[in-house]
Amino acid sequence: MIGTVDGGWAELLDILNCERIVTTAGLVGTGALALKLAVDYARERKVFNGRPIGSYQGLQFPLAQQWAELEAARLLNLKAASNFDRKLPFGSESNAAKLIASQAASAAAEQSMQVMGGMGYSKEFHAERLWRDARLFRFAPVSEEMILNYISTVNLGLPRSY
Ligand SMILES: Cc1cc2nc3c(=O)[nH]c(=O)nc-3n(C[C@H](O)[C@H](O)[C@H](O)COP(=O)(O)OP(=O)(O)OC[C@H]3O[C@@H](n4cnc5c(N)ncnc54)[C@H](O)[C@@H]3O)c2cc1C
Repeated sequence: MIGTVDGGWAELLDILNCERIVTTAGLVGTGALALKLAVDYARERKVFNGRPIGSYQGLQFPLAQQWAELEAARLLNLKAASNFDRKLPFGSESNAAKLIASQAASAAAEQSMQVMGGMGYSKEFHAERLWRDARLFRFAPVSEEMILNYISTVNLGLPRSY
């Protein structure tokens, strides 16, 4: 027997919440790489008037927004990891960090591809791979809807909806 009799579900949840911390760390790194690739490209690429496309706010603002969201997810994830190390509850922090990180990493990969235009679709520039990889984590290992269900019941005290 692994674990304790009749305590398996709670013990499994501890493992799954821990997995979310690891997933979020990977997502923050994926998002940061997508941003770096976009920024590097936007500094170099000049269209029409000799100015790099990275000088336009239309390109800068979404990238800046995603940087801020990834940083928030990273910090919340560190809080989850710290709680885990200190044997404190960490389900809410790990779930919320994964929610924000998966959305921000997906948005960063999407924007990275957009910044690169047609080149973003080619394998050499990697944005297409990051775009597909980041998308997975909006529903795995737990979907954003189930995280919102968790927050609704555990953090907000609302009745369980399912
Ligand atoms: C490439 C890949 C690798 C994976 N690796 C692993 C792994 O290593 N270990 C593992 O355990 N799992 C793994 N999974 C499974 C993954 O965790 C599940 O796909 C994920 O949890 C969603 O479950 P589901 O696919 O059964 O979707 P469903 O449960 O069928 O849900 C479908 C959709 O309905 C929504 N939904 C369902 N119920 C509600 C509700 N009450 N309220 C609102 N929305 C709801 C969901 O959020 C989702 O968007 C992997 C999946 C993929 C694609």
